[in-house]
Amino acid sequence: MKDGNFLKEKNARSLWHPMAHPADSLANPPTIVTGASGVTITDVDGHTVVDGVGGLWNVNLGFSCQPIKDAITAQLDQLPYYSIFRGTSNDAVIELAEELRTFFEPDGLTRAFYTSGGSDSVETALRLARQYHKVRGEPARTKYLSLKKGYHGTHFGGASVNGNANFRTAYEPLLAGCFHIPAPYTYRNPFNETDPAKLAQLCLAALEDEIAFQGAGTIAAFIMEPILGAGGVIPPHESFMPGVREICSKNGILLIADEVITAFGRTGSWTGSRHWGVQPDLMCTAKAITNGYFPFGAMMISEEVAQVFESDETGRAAIGHGYTYSGHPVGAAAALACLAETQRLNVPENAAARGKELYEGLLALQAKHEAVGDVRGGHGLMCAMELVSDRATKKPIDKASTAIVQETAYQAGAMVRISGPNIILSPPLVLTSDDVQTILSALDAGLSALN
Ligand code: PMP
Repeated sequence: MKDGNFLKEKNARSLWHPMAHPADSLANPPTIVTGASGVTITDVDGHTVVDGVGGLWNVNLGFSCQPIKDAITAQLDQLPYYSIFRGTSNDAVIELAEELRTFFEPDGLTRAFYTSGGSDSVETALRLARQYHKVRGEPARTKYLSLKKGYHGTHFGGASVNGNANFRTAYEPLLAGCFHIPAPYTYRNPFNETDPAKLAQLCLAALEDEIAFQGAGTIAAFIMEPILGAGGVIPPHESFMPGVREICSKNGILLIADEVITAFGRTGSWTGSRHWGVQPDLMCTAKAITNGYFPFGAMMISEEVAQVFESDETGRAAIGHGYTYSGHPVGAAAALACLAETQRLNVPENAAARGKELYEGLLALQAKHEAVGDVRGGHGLMCAMELVSDRATKKPIDKASTAIVQETAYQAGAMVRISGPNIILSPPLVLTSDDVQTILSALDAGLSALN
């Protein structure tokens, strides 16, 4: 076994972590993960725990998915890399595009543009949305609307439509022309509305109001997550996304569904948009497309948008956008195998059933522990508990207390994720009822440690 303390020392000396203070890894050394199998991870100190985070919302099929590993190895032997910029293609990217076309047909999405991750997929969607309007002859449509609390990755475009100050302030000024409307977040909202259906209507009215204020003819796209993820798992009322769709269509605004988390089964449906019965114009995917085994993404395009680009005779539709790793053949092979395995296992079914158990278990923990202010879930395997120091005032709990919950839960058998006052759960979609119980009893221990 590796010397854990030595590794932690070297980590603090030489490595900066995303989403962390650079000085923090000395005071709070990270858990050094040495291996993973099924739905568990093992650390350098010898603990093996259920991964309640699923990697980073991406390891939907667990850590032992042999068909994906085999596909990666075989592709490395056949063609380890070639670009698909104008003039070249390869069989892995072509076969995957055909599979994605079939998979996303119910969402009305028929073309794929490959990326190397979620932020790239968002950037691609934002850029192509502007270009779409220019090709159509409405070049003034350049602005973007999005939800407060939304998370859309860390490129400048995505950060500009992000609705959380933590990911914005240090990097301002961001892209001009981005405006945010309130999220349908029942626990806390500017309207003090606690009824989800009424809140959805208020947020939709705020969207219409912002469109009228900006002028519909200046707006390129509205981007939203079907269920807000990193912002604290905020599922909207079922009327919200269909309402957004209607407003966007009425105003000539493209609807971008950011499904970097929700595509491929996490909500208990194959996509988050389908979960709400909505067809977006563009859809961002990444993460679970390769089960997290290879950095890869696909931005999916509707038939209508595709037709506008493909029928252009002015030259304006030439795409001046793409990444060296757009369509990496190894990623494409991983995604092909992952898609086949995801469908063979019919993962949304288990996500829905286990998600219900997890959500109900969290509600039971809320009844038991005063610190649990809000529990959100009920749509597959995306759940959150929002912790407060006082239920009456909803004062968010302090950082030290969430760290105690996390650390105690870890010692009791489950890795959970902290995001502000939220404990976020997004385990692999293939976990069992026993694994769900392990996560719940670990959280019970974590919350008990606050008393
Ligand atoms: N959009 C959403 C909804 C996400 O949750 C994330 C990542 N958590 C991203 C975009 C960015 O993806 P990546 O970290 O792969 O760039």
